[in-house]
Amino acid sequence: MELIRRWFCRCSGSLRELENGQMFAEEEPDGPFCPVCGATPENDPKKGLCYRDVRRED
Ligand SMILES: [Zn+2]
Repeated sequence: MELIRRWFCRCSGSLRELENGQMFAEEEPDGPFCPVCGATPENDPKKGLCYRDVRRED
């Protein structure tokens, strides 16, 4: 069993799950990134991000 961290941003009024950064590999090699407001876990001035740790069964 593996614990994975899923990131969400609430900037658009509802929780949007973030992509895990592959599209932005050059600047954000590992982190999630909100394509709407540009927030990342390291740069989130609006505090719009939250995360949930979920277990992946397989
Ligand atoms: Zn956002």
